[in-house]
Amino acid sequence: MGHEGHDDDDAYKHHSTYKLPSNTFFCFHSLFPTPAATQHHELAYDLHHRAHPDPHPQSHHHHHRPPRPPPPFLIDTFTHKTHNALGFWHGALEGLPLTHGPNSIRLSPTDPDQYYHTQLSAATCFNLNPHIHTNQHLHIHLSGSPHFTISLTQNNPSCNASLHPFPETWDSLDASRYAHNNHIYIPLSHFHINSSRTLSIAFGGFYTPESVTLFRVEIVDAAAVPKAFPVPPRLDNGNVALRCSRPGAFAFGIDDGQPGLAQEVMRILEEEGIMVTFFVVGMGLRDAETNFSAVYREMLRRGHQVALHSDTHRKLEGLGSTAEIDREIVENIKSFQQILGIETRYFRPPYGTIGARTRQRLAYYIKDPQIINWSVDIEDWLWAGTKTPEKQREAFIRDVKLGGNLAVMHFLSPTTVSYFREIIQFVKSMNATIMRIDQCLEDPNSPPLKISVP
Ligand SMILES: [Zn+2]
Repeated sequence: MGHEGHDDDDAYKHHSTYKLPSNTFFCFHSLFPTPAATQHHELAYDLHHRAHPDPHPQSHHHHHRPPRPPPPFLIDTFTHKTHNALGFWHGALEGLPLTHGPNSIRLSPTDPDQYYHTQLSAATCFNLNPHIHTNQHLHIHLSGSPHFTISLTQNNPSCNASLHPFPETWDSLDASRYAHNNHIYIPLSHFHINSSRTLSIAFGGFYTPESVTLFRVEIVDAAAVPKAFPVPPRLDNGNVALRCSRPGAFAFGIDDGQPGLAQEVMRILEEEGIMVTFFVVGMGLRDAETNFSAVYREMLRRGHQVALHSDTHRKLEGLGSTAEIDREIVENIKSFQQILGIETRYFRPPYGTIGARTRQRLAYYIKDPQIINWSVDIEDWLWAGTKTPEKQREAFIRDVKLGGNLAVMHFLSPTTVSYFREIIQFVKSMNATIMRIDQCLEDPNSPPLKISVP
């Protein structure tokens, strides 16, 4: 179930010409195979390891020669349509158009949210540490465009595909920085995630319509990297969070709104005694007709967090030039300084669209940016304007019960706002403590939690 292409998105746009509803975020959960569906892949995984009991054989016989590098850890040669060389699932998300070759796959992207994944484990967790500690490299043999993102995904703490979020986070590197003569070599240490819980390698964040053909994905010893291959230094690129780290915490990240509903939202927050995070677009803040400058100044005065959401709400990763990405970031930051008098390192990408370039540019302007997506989706973008608006409440409760604790919602529709109090009370009934996103991520610079004693 891709989130793209819903007509409701268009209906939403009439609410506001400058702020579009967030959310075409890829639905990993339903598209990754469930553990039940991958049982035969787990079997293949076992077989693979029996066939290769020692991944790092030592040479004992040729003392006069330097030891041979260990054989590559082969991940994918694109020989089978549904599984890779490890026997695990590989495939496209968000409708990425594919052409299968005999030993290759051609990706013909139309959107930066489209990704092709090749899994390192059967939807559980793969420990990459032995490969990292020996300075091994990810090697990709490809042809065509290098204008995309390579991500390494990290599973959730229970390594459970049926819990939210799945995956928990990922790191993203810019393929074009590492590509040279149809090859890419990336030191595994360039991926900053919890490498004991890796899940998949993913190709996405395409920002041109050029196709790319992949032939081989493997992990190789540093000695196998051709001499003088230009491996660039790693660039900072921030942290992507989909869940609160603080035990028992729950956070609302509220994106775009209708000025006319802001007072009602403020009243509910006040009466329920909770603090939330608002992600605010620069252009809306500057628009005098909306009164948003006064609304968000008041939200700040009351102790809520106000964070960045780009300047004009486009899919930043899909923009053709870094200059355009920069403008979206810089103008948002400037509007915050000039209108609200604040600085923040928290950012939510419009539509949840994120890739290597956006991450790098954020980290260029903001020290250690915190890029916030979500693990609870009220699906207002899908249901708010329909005959079944109560599906918003159902979607919210479903995601919380699956372990999600960081929500995305908007105040674009009266129906969404009408369920707001009820979902807050539902979260409280689950014994969770509602707080700002910086607080739920245990940011040392966040304001102290106000513990209310009943
Ligand atoms: Zn948005």
